[in-house]
Amino acid sequence: MKSKIWTKENLQTLIKENMSDYEFVVDSSRQPYVHVFKKGKIECQRGAGGVVTALDPILRACNGLWVAYGNGDADGKVTDANGKIRVPHDDPSYTLKRVWLTKEEEDGFYYGYANQALWPLCHLAFQRPVFKNSDWEYYCEVNKKFARMVLDEIGDKKAFIWIQDYHFTLLPKYLKEMAPSQLIIAHFWHIPWPNHEVFRICPQKHQILEGLLASDLLGFHIRYHCDNFMDTVDRELQCKINRERFSVIKGDHETLIRPYPISVDFEGLRDIATSPEVRKAMKALSQEYDLSGKKLIIGVDRIDYTKGIPERMLAIDRLLEMHPALKGEIVFMQMGVISRIHIPRYRELNDQVNALVEDINWKHSTADWDPIILARRHLSFHELLALYRMCDICVISSLHDGMNLVAKEFVSSRVNEDAVLVLSRFTGAARELEDAVSINPYNREEFANSLYKALNLSREERKKRMKKMRAVVLNNNIYRWAGKILSELLKFEFQE
Ligand code: UDP
Repeated sequence: MKSKIWTKENLQTLIKENMSDYEFVVDSSRQPYVHVFKKGKIECQRGAGGVVTALDPILRACNGLWVAYGNGDADGKVTDANGKIRVPHDDPSYTLKRVWLTKEEEDGFYYGYANQALWPLCHLAFQRPVFKNSDWEYYCEVNKKFARMVLDEIGDKKAFIWIQDYHFTLLPKYLKEMAPSQLIIAHFWHIPWPNHEVFRICPQKHQILEGLLASDLLGFHIRYHCDNFMDTVDRELQCKINRERFSVIKGDHETLIRPYPISVDFEGLRDIATSPEVRKAMKALSQEYDLSGKKLIIGVDRIDYTKGIPERMLAIDRLLEMHPALKGEIVFMQMGVISRIHIPRYRELNDQVNALVEDINWKHSTADWDPIILARRHLSFHELLALYRMCDICVISSLHDGMNLVAKEFVSSRVNEDAVLVLSRFTGAARELEDAVSINPYNREEFANSLYKALNLSREERKKRMKKMRAVVLNNNIYRWAGKILSELLKFEFQE
């Protein structure tokens, strides 16, 4: 399998040949499909976010079970008495089980401990984490609730469980305590793991490490995060670090620690990017935002303080200060879905972004041109790919990012190869996409100069760089990520 390109079909074969006697369960906080009321009707939306993009094709391939929390206002209307629904609605291929959380649980678990303690703790964006005991208690409770839900579903069958992300650090431990011999557990950590100096401030650090170490396999995007994790464990817990096997042995249990860079469905995106729907969306967007004849720079993000959105706008401002001839020639379009809006820091960021757009547009605008368009509306998948295809530059300026899938989606969609990726070196993706124009988002001057450089690369150079990046993503695609993790997981044997 080494030199072959992983495909949905390879993965399906791997799963069919090895997993048919077992259950396969994914746990995550975000759902792959959300049901919401729109104008009195129920609409099914595909969830935004990296995890969903990555796992939906895998679950489809293996008819698995996805357990996530139901947060759509119409979610309860379409599920059965056990919170289950077959998805996607136009091609039902797997089961989604929704776990219902109370408002207090959602506040403490999701908005509290997960997103105000762990998220800022693991992303170095100089945002101080908030550790509240009451949040921690809800976090423990919700992790336990998920453990019970999973076990209710699988009964006494043997199962492979694949847990996603920082919301569920305790789930491996609870599951193994409740059903020690029937589960093999992988946990994938989608965000960075910081160094020990940073992680050690966490009051619940030992419980978190012990929770994760109940997994059989623990994956991070890059080797650097694995090293940070091993070093953290080494300094905090009584356990044995096996550098040869790259594992941690705690008591009589071993956890393998491995890097698996997440990716996208390159071929799928490439094919949809050339579809008539996307071509239609390109035309419509160009008209809607008056983009014709201008060099288009885009940013596509959840509005999150780790994404470096203000830094990006300030770099555009600097670019226009340094090169006023670009006025009227370029336009920067930021697509931003509102995220985690119940957290004060996110509300502040929204205000800051709005104010920056106002100020920068006021400063540079001409009679018929504004440099920045902030489009807050929900983008359909076709519109998203249309933007990737229409732009001259896609800018990713994360202050810190586990991987960043937008970078890989953009590269996959760029069938004509004639565009430039400007990419923060503090993303996991920067390790693979070496032909991007690399930036430090904290360095406004360098950032503006890099944008200028990107705008002025020759067509030949643009194509050369994009071609190389496309070859990387084609090979290191999402099926490879999943295939590698599942292949490792399948080497474990169930206890008799
Ligand atoms: N995304 C989207 N609409 C938006 C912004 C983002 O569908 O307006 C999707 C995007 O296509 C990508 C994901 O959200 O698949 C973002 O993943 P990434 O790893 O870049 O960042 P995350 O949001 O997971 O931190």
